[in-house]
Amino acid sequence: METKSKELFERAKKHIPGGVNSPVRAFQAVGRTPRFMKAAKGSRIWDEDENEFIDYVCSWGPGILGHADPRVIKKVKEACDLGLTYGAPTQKEVELAELIAELVPSMEVSRLVSSGTEAVMSAVRAARGYTGKDKIIKFRGCYHGHSDGLLVKAGSGALTTSVPDSAGVPADYTKNTLVAEFNDRDSVEALFQSNPGEIAAVIVEPVAANMGVVLPEEGFLEFLRDITKNNDSLLIFDEVITGFRLALGGAQEYFHVTPDLTTLGKIVGGGMPIGAYGGKREIMQMISPDGPVYQAGTLSGNPIATTAGIETLKILKEDPDIYKRLEARGEKMAQAVRDAAGERVRVNQIGSLLSVFFTKNEVRDYESAASSDLELYAEYFGYLLDHGIYTAPSQFEAMFLSDVHTEEDIETTCQIMRDALCSLRF
Ligand SMILES: *Cc1c(COP(=O)(O)O)cnc(C)c1O
Repeated sequence: METKSKELFERAKKHIPGGVNSPVRAFQAVGRTPRFMKAAKGSRIWDEDENEFIDYVCSWGPGILGHADPRVIKKVKEACDLGLTYGAPTQKEVELAELIAELVPSMEVSRLVSSGTEAVMSAVRAARGYTGKDKIIKFRGCYHGHSDGLLVKAGSGALTTSVPDSAGVPADYTKNTLVAEFNDRDSVEALFQSNPGEIAAVIVEPVAANMGVVLPEEGFLEFLRDITKNNDSLLIFDEVITGFRLALGGAQEYFHVTPDLTTLGKIVGGGMPIGAYGGKREIMQMISPDGPVYQAGTLSGNPIATTAGIETLKILKEDPDIYKRLEARGEKMAQAVRDAAGERVRVNQIGSLLSVFFTKNEVRDYESAASSDLELYAEYFGYLLDHGIYTAPSQFEAMFLSDVHTEEDIETTCQIMRDALCSLRF
């Protein structure tokens, strides 16, 4: 039954573009009606027709503790009684900045914003202000939010041209964004060589999770660390997904590679809208009012959002074993899929992030991810949805595990995934 979702979707399409406030929610890639959700608790989410799902979208990452963790909800309710926003500094912001610096030591100084998009946009501005250079390098298939300068794709052929990846973005806004290939050192070296002294920063998702999950190969992040250092450029880790998910200290702790600037989002807000960017004091001193790089926000450091963030980070900090549990569950799920589908799919998994790619190729960059059979993915997704498993409605998104996915949830899910794979003709 999806009667109510269908009705709501029809109503939504009249006044909201595509009926949704973020495109992936429209289920276009899988040809189904999006489910309109009305409640979520723990590992479960319910739609308006009262269908229950085990949720592996987890709001695209924030839900590492599962939905509506009672400890977080209690603090948020208490905070609401004290007022929703003041537009003035608060103790909570100080506490969150201290926690971030403690858990992610490279973020000695950080600034709070309201989304991951804003965090990345501001970090790039800080890098340009600090280095006095204009160009940045990003990787094909990595997503860094929807600011103009980052909605870029590689131009055909020539390494040095990049073009807007969205209508409405002037080519002039993207000409300073160069595009390299994930896991391909030569492509990065070539850009440094053809733009000597002009690269302000290299920005990367240390584990790419927006082309499906793609792991950095041995030495790749170290290589980026070295080449940026040797060229007086900054290394920016976009840890909006990996922050507090791969490890308490994010991918930089997991891989022992320290960037100059880091961006956070998703988990850092504990389910409320927050982003953060930060790094060494010397760089962050560039931000106004200390320095000449302007960046501001009416609702930045909002007291309700910071409360949810602080409580979530404290829970993670007090129970670091959470990351071992997540890794074990992630591995179990990956193994179940590999056992069921063998060589017909590729499963990329690290910690609580997982993608099943419908391709026989090893998936190590955008091109190999894009070799997936999207129709098979859509069928697989549909089977899972119809059997109570809510997962990413796109081949190019990750599956997220949370600490409240029980052994039983995982068993049930593995069985349904196996059945789904068996039901496909491929
Ligand atoms: C989600 C995401 C963003 C954008 O964050 P929003 O809060 O959606 O603006 C940026 N970078 C990465 C790696 C993301 O996954």
